[in-house]
Amino acid sequence: MKDYQIYLLDLDGVVYRGDHLLPGAREFVAWLEATGKTYRYISNNSMQSPTDVAERLRRLGMPAPDERVVTASQAAVDHLAKEQPGQRVWVVGLPPLRRMAARAGLRVLNLARSDAPDDPAAGPETARTVLVGLHRSVTYEDLRLATRAVLAGATLLGVNRDPQLPVEDGVDPGCGAILAALEVASRAHASIIGKPAPTILTDTLDALHADRSRAVMIGDALEMDIAAGHAAGIDTILVLSGLTSPERAAAADPRPTLVLRDLADVLAQAKAGAE
Ligand SMILES: [Mg+2]
Repeated sequence: MKDYQIYLLDLDGVVYRGDHLLPGAREFVAWLEATGKTYRYISNNSMQSPTDVAERLRRLGMPAPDERVVTASQAAVDHLAKEQPGQRVWVVGLPPLRRMAARAGLRVLNLARSDAPDDPAAGPETARTVLVGLHRSVTYEDLRLATRAVLAGATLLGVNRDPQLPVEDGVDPGCGAILAALEVASRAHASIIGKPAPTILTDTLDALHADRSRAVMIGDALEMDIAAGHAAGIDTILVLSGLTSPERAAAADPRPTLVLRDLADVLAQAKAGAE
């Protein structure tokens, strides 16, 4: 395989599943470190900061400095801060997302509570953007105020469009379910930062001043990781250690650049390619 310089790694189904590392994960990342490759863990999470995700990876025994983790929530607030520093944002999301937005330098109009403006004179109608993450205690009032903001002209931006959130005992509604409610109510179509949108990848590559011809996205989901990598214009490796069966991989459109068993297989191929 090609001698890539930049590796973007999906987490669930690639690096770990549940509380177990997948074959080759630790060895592959150790090899990336030892050979001076650039890598980033890419998480579609809309609630957690890179520090939260890095802590989880370190608990599992992975090398994971905070700065190697990109979450869709952090990518979304950074994207807005770059687009217009200090812009006025109304956040539908949990306190960590609202704090992340404030730390990125955005003017969060509802930092203290998701369902009320901090300053009654600066209500949702004055927002430039409505940012939507997963909000596990979302209320009708949250939806009402965010709808008013979009109807008054704010842009609707979703951290991701995941319809479902897999949890211990089944499946919960995901960020995309809340976003869909707001799209219906406001008749707006949201933009998205997380996969399968390419933005999380292209913003990461831009921040690294990366040569895209030497970057690769490694993931286990065709409709998420491979679609995002394809849309970002970079090579993709589908690993079969997660969601995708060999049969579905063979029929994939767009086709991944490579289909490999797991990160152990990627490591073997990468070593061969680097020689
Ligand atoms: Mg995955």
